[in-house]
Amino acid sequence: MSRKFNFSAGPAALPDEVLQQARDEMLDWHGEGLSIMEMSHRSDAFVSVATQAEQDLRELMGIPDNYRVLFLQGGATSQFAMVPLNLLGGRDSADYINTGIWSKKAIQEAGRYATARIAASTESAGFTRVPSQDELDLDPSAAYVHYTPNETIGGVEFGYVPETGEVPLVADMSSTILSRPCDVSRFGLIYAGAQKNIGPAGLTVVIVRDDLLGRAAASAPTMFDYQVHAEADSMNNTPPTFGWYLAGLVFQWLKRQGGVEAMEAINRRKADKLYGYIDGSDFYANPIDAGSRSWMNVPFTLADSALDKLFLEQADAAGLLNLKGHRSVGGMRASLYNAVPEAAVDALIDFMREFEKSNG
Ligand code: PMP
Repeated sequence: MSRKFNFSAGPAALPDEVLQQARDEMLDWHGEGLSIMEMSHRSDAFVSVATQAEQDLRELMGIPDNYRVLFLQGGATSQFAMVPLNLLGGRDSADYINTGIWSKKAIQEAGRYATARIAASTESAGFTRVPSQDELDLDPSAAYVHYTPNETIGGVEFGYVPETGEVPLVADMSSTILSRPCDVSRFGLIYAGAQKNIGPAGLTVVIVRDDLLGRAAASAPTMFDYQVHAEADSMNNTPPTFGWYLAGLVFQWLKRQGGVEAMEAINRRKADKLYGYIDGSDFYANPIDAGSRSWMNVPFTLADSALDKLFLEQADAAGLLNLKGHRSVGGMRASLYNAVPEAAVDALIDFMREFEKSNG
């Protein structure tokens, strides 16, 4: 077996230790004589796994008691609809900050249910930065303010949490959750698809302040009502049991690493190294403003895009996988989520340096 370095934007790298533990427990979970996937979600064994996972996530993120944690399906994309369906609460407008492709998708979906008013957009700057707090034109009567703390494709990230006064702040944290500490009390709702920093695809985590529950539109499908899931401890129907279990193993792994404070230091170092190398080279470039650069997703281009194919082939051969940029933007992208070790970044930089020498 040889595990390669995986820079995928998602589904993304998982920690070796977590996969090894899942392998060891696969056929016979803790002497129960069956795998976790084959158990009833209502069995004592699974409920203990589910409860522990929630407790560990609460501990890692310091989630206050007046927030509920939901383990759902449907991906972050379902949240683009679930958020307006639950949080409009009779209002007809919500504010959206537009920083790139994922914000836009959220805006488009919300537009089916209400006015998705643009409180700020950096589109005219080619989405190469996030707006500053001063640039936010917030409507005090908006039902909520939605933003994307990290744009996975564009590689732009907020270095601050927007101040929205009394209006609940909603964050699509799919590609940045657990990468560093975050003050949950600043948010009305946080959601994230699991397949980057949490676990396998198929699980979606929602953290919601309890005063925002019970407000779903009458027409909202039962499975799109946060209150239904909160009342049923995310077991209104069969939850994604294996994803939930694996997320729990990732949370325990994160605790062993020293929690999100330790991850912040490592993630900052990984990103600084790669941006530092790119900025110091005339061969590679990253277009994002220094203050808005993502720690998690680092897009970069080669001086001559005709070399892209060769770069990817040779990177692959060197055991550096999934560096191709998103199909909508081209170029390269290295995703540096929690489970991507610093050694992967070192190996990538060594490879980039050699490639530049041979082709620059
Ligand atoms: N939001 C962001 C920021 C994302 O990165 C992604 C997935 N790449 C999505 C939403 C969509 O997530 P899903 O595929 O889980 O619906």
